[in-house]
Amino acid sequence: MSNKQRAPFIADARFTDLLGNYSGNAVNGLHETTVRRPSMVWWAPDPSLADFGEAQKWFYAQEEPDAEMLDLRARRREVVAQQLPDVGPHKQTRTPVEWTNELQQFVTAGDCEMTGVTTLDPDWVFDHEEACLPNIVMLGVQHDYDELRHVPELRGGKDVTRQYLRAAAAAKKVAGWLRDQGHRAEAVTGPMTGKVLMIPPAIACGFGELGKHGSIINPEFGSAFRLSAVLTDAPFKETPPRDFGIDDFCSRCRVCENACPPEAIAPDKQMVRGVEKWYVDFDRCIPYFAETSGCAICIAVCPWSLPNVGMNLAEKLRRRAKRLAGEAQPVVPDTPRAE
Ligand code: SF4
Ligand code: SF4
Repeated sequence: MSNKQRAPFIADARFTDLLGNYSGNAVNGLHETTVRRPSMVWWAPDPSLADFGEAQKWFYAQEEPDAEMLDLRARRREVVAQQLPDVGPHKQTRTPVEWTNELQQFVTAGDCEMTGVTTLDPDWVFDHEEACLPNIVMLGVQHDYDELRHVPELRGGKDVTRQYLRAAAAAKKVAGWLRDQGHRAEAVTGPMTGKVLMIPPAIACGFGELGKHGSIINPEFGSAFRLSAVLTDAPFKETPPRDFGIDDFCSRCRVCENACPPEAIAPDKQMVRGVEKWYVDFDRCIPYFAETSGCAICIAVCPWSLPNVGMNLAEKLRRRAKRLAGEAQPVVPDTPRAE
């Protein structure tokens, strides 16, 4: 990331022509006051079926070919295409807490850095899909900040693809393990998730809070992580959501707002499909996002993402909350886990 003064961003006409009159904000339900399921606006697994499909293809077409990036994407496609094993004939029995604790093996093995579980809310499922499995296991993989900090240059973008590759491989591994144990399981890999939103279940299972930049923040990894998921009928114990006061912190911080070249990050929450929340203006973000192979400036500049900063910030927020409340507050909770 550069500190140079920058000129106002003007979107490439070749991209805006492909967008035509479509508004991603309208598809996302900006200013809608009724709760409804999400519609797919970008990262369709099959771009030819999406309103934004041609624009999504341009994301790749405009890029200067880079051997490492092409290799990372090819490896991710291979992982996504991997067949899962058949569901085993015998259901392994464990208590719900034991099931959830078993997920730690994938962190220990280095497949991912974070796991959590929650019940699948049908309102998280895209409106062209159906929820068919009751639980969702969330997996988080951490960025290498030394690589991520180079966004929007390709070097930073490669770490985004590298981590999506890791996240996809982790989801396939967890889904394969569950099937071997006799349970139905389906891997959901990003960025073309196709079936279900990732951020709401990740918040529900304790991965962190929604930040003003529209991504999740937690003290351990800031926003410097990527997600994948596994839908399953295995009877996991849910991991609870966590609150560090980040939502309030965002209302007083403007770092990402000021850093976003197309000024897509609003200072206040917006009403989106019946819920007031932080929301990134899709129609402003997406041209810059496409021209820079994924941008990610907002997550890289977020102070929570800087190495060794998040836990200190969380501790300061805890002390501040304690001062304001005039009473003892609970200590900062650990990463998500079953109780
Ligand atoms: S940069 Fe500041 S306002 Fe933006 S998400 Fe991070 S903490 Fe919140
Ligand atoms: S991804 Fe880039 S363009 Fe989009 S909101 Fe973040 S900083 Fe702005």
